[in-house]
Amino acid sequence: MNNLKVKEIVARSYINPSKLPGSDYVINPYVGCPHRCIYCYAEFMKRFSNHDEPWGTFTDVKIRSTSSRPLDLQEKNVFLSSVTDCYNPLEEKYGLTRKLLLQLRHSGASVTILTKSALVLRDLDVFKQMSDISVGFSMNTTDEELRREIEPCAAGVLDRLYALKTLHENGIRTWVHVSPIFPYLSDWKALLEAAAGFTDSFSFENLKLRSAALPRVLLYITRRHPQLRDIYEQIFRQNDMTYWRALRKEILAFCNERKIAAAVHFSEKTPHE
Ligand code: SF4
Repeated sequence: MNNLKVKEIVARSYINPSKLPGSDYVINPYVGCPHRCIYCYAEFMKRFSNHDEPWGTFTDVKIRSTSSRPLDLQEKNVFLSSVTDCYNPLEEKYGLTRKLLLQLRHSGASVTILTKSALVLRDLDVFKQMSDISVGFSMNTTDEELRREIEPCAAGVLDRLYALKTLHENGIRTWVHVSPIFPYLSDWKALLEAAAGFTDSFSFENLKLRSAALPRVLLYITRRHPQLRDIYEQIFRQNDMTYWRALRKEILAFCNERKIAAAVHFSEKTPHE
């Protein structure tokens, strides 16, 4: 978190209606994200944040909200988080996610968490008090070198697998979001084998590159994997879906054969567009 600019802000509300499939509401306790994934889908949030700095160099902490309007969340799904990681390193100091989970505990909501951080284990005691909670990890490789290059400030592969295993052994429903899949780099079969013993299901999402992420990832590929440069140009600049169609079939066949619960969500749009 070197050089991260942190600002405490008052938000209008912590919880907002969600357009994400399967979620009624979404909570993002932070604006910005210090994990600095090179493909980050949330960078478009800069438009709404009054920041000139590059995405990944600032994070606003919603220390308080002006809204006191209680919501009826009975049988609603609440998702944390869509445009930040609710367990980013600032959560260790601020504990916003923990406070929000404590409030959600008796709301009747079904709560879904998606993170790339092992800090999630801190809240195991809260999860155990919740009637409907599911914790997922975004992972796209077992290769620690690749992970460090594309998700430099998120938890390492082994830390994520350890957190997944610990949650599973404590009776928490877990899932692995194999995302985003980097063509010819993400060893998704090895990841499934590594995580299958401690996850209830897998979902798969393709890499989608918009705005600043497109040149950034293509530059990374050119420097580190030049043999893939033309293939990435074809997939991402020409929007050629041939690779993804073939991969979808391969994933479903692989999972069917091993009786692994899997959902493949490949599309040409970024999740937040
Ligand atoms: S964890 Fe998510 S929000 Fe944070 S930088 Fe990575 S992709 Fe972006």
